[in-house]
Amino acid sequence: MAQITNHMPTAELQALDAAHHMHPFTNGHELAAKGARVITRAKGVWLTDSEGNEILDAMGGLWCVNIGYGREELAEVAARQMRELPYYNTFFQTTHVPAIALAQRLAELAPGDLNHVFFASSGSEANDTNIRMVRTYWAESGKPEKQIIISRKNGYHGSTVGAASLGGMSPMHAQGGLPIPGVHHINQPNWWAEGGDMSPEEFGLARARELEEAIHELGEDKVAAFIAEPIQGAGGVIVPPDNYWPEIQRICDAHEILLIADEVICGFGRTGKWFGSQTMNIRPDIMTVAKGLSSGYAPISASIVSDGVAKVLDACEFNHGYTYSGHPVSAAVALENLRILDEEGIVERVGAETAPYLQEKWERLTDHPLVGEARIVGLMGSVALTPDKDNRAKFAADPGTVGFICRERCFANNLVMRHVGDRMIISPPLVISPSEIDLLIERARLSLDQCLERIA
Ligand code: PLP
Repeated sequence: MAQITNHMPTAELQALDAAHHMHPFTNGHELAAKGARVITRAKGVWLTDSEGNEILDAMGGLWCVNIGYGREELAEVAARQMRELPYYNTFFQTTHVPAIALAQRLAELAPGDLNHVFFASSGSEANDTNIRMVRTYWAESGKPEKQIIISRKNGYHGSTVGAASLGGMSPMHAQGGLPIPGVHHINQPNWWAEGGDMSPEEFGLARARELEEAIHELGEDKVAAFIAEPIQGAGGVIVPPDNYWPEIQRICDAHEILLIADEVICGFGRTGKWFGSQTMNIRPDIMTVAKGLSSGYAPISASIVSDGVAKVLDACEFNHGYTYSGHPVSAAVALENLRILDEEGIVERVGAETAPYLQEKWERLTDHPLVGEARIVGLMGSVALTPDKDNRAKFAADPGTVGFICRERCFANNLVMRHVGDRMIISPPLVISPSEIDLLIERARLSLDQCLERIA
């Protein structure tokens, strides 16, 4: 049997891939017909594919490669940890140094009294942990009826049964009998698409107050928690109106509802501060982190929990955990990633220099005939494509058709941007340089021009 390597012809790799590899969120027939793009190596913000193309990765992988590709330090730390202690678990009163050190560092970095860390391997697993955690918290607090979790339509919290139920993605709910009972969805604060004649402020308040209405309808004694991303990522980088989060915080405080901030995308510098909760000025009881925690170099995630919630959970045995909770290699890699983010001043540079530089250019994309709003916070941005920006109109074609054409043009121009419906989104590595930002904008404009030509 021939060994499969980077040196095989692309067509052969694609045929083998289509024959045996089932991809996430991919239509298998289309995959077989077109073949997958084969990525062979990466450095900084650049990917190389099997045809030798150099591609600017404006998505940072899947929103995760915060320190950029190819950092030797992480490879070395992983190899060292594999040699010393490749695996041990953290169940049943056992621990090891990488888990201790990473939990301590996360407690130091996280805002407020978020001082306790429960590890998992993915954002989805951490959010599943959160479901069980908040329900157990209320049961142990003598309020076992408080079990319902409120979340938002078009929010994304992962792909496991629990996390996909928390999420508000209707195509995901359409498969596999989701959502599970005990999850209630309210509307998202997407003013561009759903604001109608309201001002952003009127709309922000109205959408936040839907949380209070839901609590009244379901009963305050039945609602355990509200979960949301500080800025919705996979839903299309939806930046809420400024008054949305303060009102949500007020409502959670007033009704004894735990607030879970899903920081899987927003965490570790993406919004220009260490956490999106700091950018949005909220005080979560639990934060979900993953992705940028290790810059995607190793699978690891965590629920970072407040003193108050941890105190209650510590009083019982929380019957929950994963074989890889606090995996020593992933934990060591994450620690090294946090050291680099901190010591190289990467998060501060995003806030002070990189984000303002990109923002100015990104927001100017609204001068393009196809672009309605252009939103960006830190290094996560989106543009809404529209045939008529004055009326925030939708295209006559099925939603996502134009976005798909634009994304294909981006690929052809060696730029990875994703589309969510007819919104184009970016989330580049935090180490992107000014000249790479110039190139990103140049290629985005070219792709928008070509998209406009195609649909004219
Ligand atoms: N939460 C948010 C906000 C996410 O964006 C994602 C993934 O994109 C997840 C959770 C799920 O993370 P994972 O894919 O690691 O399970």
